[in-house]
Amino acid sequence: MTAAIPVGGLCEDCHRRVKRRAAQIARWVAIGTTIPLAVYVTLTLPRTREARIVGATAVVIWYVLTSLIVRRVAWEWLK
Ligand SMILES: [Zn+2]
Repeated sequence: MTAAIPVGGLCEDCHRRVKRRAAQIARWVAIGTTIPLAVYVTLTLPRTREARIVGATAVVIWYVLTSLIVRRVAWEWLK
């Protein structure tokens, strides 16, 4: 984690634009990987209340983590 602004870094407009694109890519990748995971979890986990809660939690965590990681990677690529 570094808050330092790199030498020759982006101006504020480019910074904002790249950030928005990275967030967009992250959202699509997260959705695109979460849906198959959710389907898989739904099909494979037993149909008990506990299993459903565990499955739903795993899917939500997956979505959040994927979104965060992809946003970070996309940011590195795009900037
Ligand atoms: Zn610029």
